[in-house]
Amino acid sequence: MNSFKTERTKVKRIPDRGHYDKKTIYPIIDEALYCHVGINHNGNPVVIPTIHTRQDNTLYIHGSAASRLLKSIPGENNICVTITLLDGIVLARAAFHHSLNYRSVVIFGKGDIVDDPQEKWDALKIVSDHLIPGRWEDARQPNQKELDATTVISISLEEASAKVRTGPPGDEDEDYALPIWAGVLPLALTKGELVPDPVLSESIDIPDYLR
Ligand SMILES: Cc1cc2nc3c(=O)[nH]c(=O)nc-3n(C[C@H](O)[C@H](O)[C@H](O)COP(=O)(O)OP(=O)(O)OC[C@H]3O[C@@H](n4cnc5c(N)ncnc54)[C@H](O)[C@@H]3O)c2cc1C
Repeated sequence: MNSFKTERTKVKRIPDRGHYDKKTIYPIIDEALYCHVGINHNGNPVVIPTIHTRQDNTLYIHGSAASRLLKSIPGENNICVTITLLDGIVLARAAFHHSLNYRSVVIFGKGDIVDDPQEKWDALKIVSDHLIPGRWEDARQPNQKELDATTVISISLEEASAKVRTGPPGDEDEDYALPIWAGVLPLALTKGELVPDPVLSESIDIPDYLR
């Protein structure tokens, strides 16, 4: 499938910002470290942030088998996952036209528990690789008790949209002459300095994948 466009993923508000192709949607999913999953829980909407990862056409989320989100999703055939990357604050001359530059994705789908032990293992590995490539091989890997306490959910990517805003503010024609600074304050998530665990042995070097 080359387009994730459906009646309900069609961006109606500022449709020029809508995209439905893998080339736009997958890099947004892959750059984000977490998503928000919206479910209908006993008649109430609930939106929960959680880590995700993608392999081919499947989105994976995981968590404690006891978590409400993970317990609720398999019974739901209509969940909504959103992913947002913030790129900047757009400062217009008019207060009304202030905005954000962003890349966001909305996915509709059905969540299924991953029962197959190999798929579950692989999903947990790619979740780890998504956060810090190389960490899975270095870390102690999950034992059976930890695997049993973890639920992995797969969501097949079939219905999705991206919405992307880039560029300068859009002001009213008559406002461009106003003596007010306008433009974009770029924002980005950056890596900071490593903070070793206070009880870490001094004999343990920082691994290459963290340098
Ligand atoms: C960081 C951020 C901040 C925002 N701030 C505001 C704000 O302050 N006020 C405001 O009105 N809007 C804001 N937006 C845009 C907002 O997400 C909606 O697109 C907009 O409010 C229109 O909503 P709607 O349900 O009427 O859209 P519609 O166009 O009717 O939605 C139809 C379909 O389009 C798709 N779609 C809609 N929005 C998005 C999206 N953002 N990403 C991917 N797919 C989408 C979905 O599949 C949805 O079902 C913001 C977006 C982001 C990412």
